[in-house]
Amino acid sequence: MPFTFANINDRSSLVQGEAFFDLATVSAGAVSTDAMEAIQNSDLLHHYAAQLGDYEPSGIIAEADVCAPIPRPRNTFGVGLNYQLHVEEAASKTPSTPMVFTKFPSCISGPTDDVILRSDECDYEGELLVVIGKDGKDITKEEAWSHVIGLSVGQDFSDRGVQYKDQPAQFNLGKSFDTFGPIGPYLVSTDSFTDPSDLEIRTTVNGEVRQNDRTSNMIFDIPILISYISSITSLAAGDIIFSGTPEGVGFRNGSFLKDGDIVETTIEGIGTMRNRCVRGADYATTPT
Ligand code: ZN
Repeated sequence: MPFTFANINDRSSLVQGEAFFDLATVSAGAVSTDAMEAIQNSDLLHHYAAQLGDYEPSGIIAEADVCAPIPRPRNTFGVGLNYQLHVEEAASKTPSTPMVFTKFPSCISGPTDDVILRSDECDYEGELLVVIGKDGKDITKEEAWSHVIGLSVGQDFSDRGVQYKDQPAQFNLGKSFDTFGPIGPYLVSTDSFTDPSDLEIRTTVNGEVRQNDRTSNMIFDIPILISYISSITSLAAGDIIFSGTPEGVGFRNGSFLKDGDIVETTIEGIGTMRNRCVRGADYATTPT
């Protein structure tokens, strides 16, 4: 039975329509209130998703605080240049192997949290978020989907000034400012999708469509990413992969984010995140 998992009021929950069900209540304590522990056992999530008709909802989502579904990932991978049209707008060469970098897990935030801009060169990157549910090392492409508990939406906010200040580029810090990794609103189990490798992905800024593509246009698909990354570093339940962004980032024409901008990121079958940009103080552009 497919499930839609959420971290509501900072407690593990399942979602059905407009309502949520607190998992600790539904499972009489069998499922941890802590989302990081709850996702360690996907069998239980599938099991209780099939039983929801027997329970009263715990509340209405619109009245609750929807937090990051994976609030404390162990590792947070990013993938650069993974859509051909984005490679071209970035005036880069098509990579021969996945271009993997890190968003430090401390940048992870919730699907409606504010994004704090620390310069005038901040950019959006809507991405499909892959959530690992089963530990593995040297995972084959054929096994890869069995290690994925589900999919979510991620925004790989990026400070292009930090990223491209020098050669070589500095991806990790430029993409790891606090609040630069909103994810959510839900973690949707892989078996919920007719084809989890072909989903529409769209990013708008103040309602204007900036990115609109399909995840089937990735250069390196999910099985290749998992196989490649796990040949180098072990993957564990609760690790997440920002799988790359389609064309249409602001960097191509200098349309960077401003105070008050609303970034909405939607993936078919998962949902929409809505993040407001707030201009904070400048970061230390000249280290002393
Ligand atoms: Zn990205």
